[in-house]
Amino acid sequence: MDLTWVKEGRTTIAVPCQNPDVPFPPGTAPVFYNSRMALNRDTTVLIVRQTNPHSYLDAMAASGIRGCRVGYESEVPVTLNDRDPLAIDLITHNVQSLGIDAHVMCRDANSLMSEEKFGFVDLDPFGTPAPFVDAAIRSTGKYLGVTATDTAPLCGAHLKAGIRRYMARPLNTEYHTEVGLRILLGNVARHAAVYDKGVTPLFCYAHEHFVRLHLQLKSSATAADKSIARLGYVHQCPKCPYRMEEQRFFPGIYTCPLCGASLTPTGPLWTGSIHDPDILAGMIRDSETFTAGDPAGLSKLLAVCRDEPDISFSYDYHKLGKYYRLSPGPIDVLLNRLRDKGYCAGRVHYSGYGIKTDAPLEIIRDCLIQ
Ligand code: SAM
Repeated sequence: MDLTWVKEGRTTIAVPCQNPDVPFPPGTAPVFYNSRMALNRDTTVLIVRQTNPHSYLDAMAASGIRGCRVGYESEVPVTLNDRDPLAIDLITHNVQSLGIDAHVMCRDANSLMSEEKFGFVDLDPFGTPAPFVDAAIRSTGKYLGVTATDTAPLCGAHLKAGIRRYMARPLNTEYHTEVGLRILLGNVARHAAVYDKGVTPLFCYAHEHFVRLHLQLKSSATAADKSIARLGYVHQCPKCPYRMEEQRFFPGIYTCPLCGASLTPTGPLWTGSIHDPDILAGMIRDSETFTAGDPAGLSKLLAVCRDEPDISFSYDYHKLGKYYRLSPGPIDVLLNRLRDKGYCAGRVHYSGYGIKTDAPLEIIRDCLIQ
């Protein structure tokens, strides 16, 4: 395998050599490395630095970039695992060249996680994490990181695959990214509850083609019950922009109060908060001196997430304008008008056109009029 050096954050590792003009077609590199996931790894390193677990497992390490960054950019002892022997050769090379104290293993992730415990378990598979979630919950002492790149099933574009993998009904709406994030979170919370573990989201977000969760788990039946109480549904009107959130185990049956159509439930999904404000504030403080792989992406993401209202759906600002046949002015004017009327209102982290507000639709429409 021809290798080239890449630097991400403060960490330099070797990865399979790519001709920039002729990149490997997806899935054909001898060992996987994707520089577009630098932001995903930046947030992992920041979370690990905030939570300081006693150990960290990169369960599917590939080149080892994630585990190497955690090992090199925090004080936490790391284990890097992959079932592919070629990946293990590369990981070993990278760990040695960085001089970090890391444990390298060539195991099936589920079998390793069924046998050993770690303070922080991180899942970053190809596509869906669903086959690994159960073992990861049993393996983690406290923290869990999960990446999903199967956004089509999670967000409702591949409905049947979404139902099979996540035992929830997604919905392909203008806020499908939010739905996908909350369906994955709800699915992990239900798996954790099986083992009397509750989940607290520390920092969860969606970006481009992936969803990323960072969770704290607590072993207690009461904590698990509290998590289950956060499950619910978003009900969407198929004919107009009306939507509502319901925190309930079984979905109710509703008609739209504006147009009388039957609302479509999507879920079960997580309806609670998706960030811990103290952890997020700590990440923002740390990011000011942190060497990120994607500095611009990271500062924008953290700032928008800090100010994003705690609501399980959003509105596409242009679609609202189209529906009401209005040509809306600047998005910040709309948000300020909503806030001036006493409603909470803010941008969403996954779309430049998305807004979240607890204002009813007639108020949003009034505030859209220039
Ligand atoms: N975490 C890496 C990063 O940040 O660049 C990327 C991981 S890559 C998407 C997925 C890796 O999971 C591959 O290297 C693959 O060999 C490994 N893998 C897939 N199934 C596995 C399993 N059951 N056990 C262990 N490793 C597995």
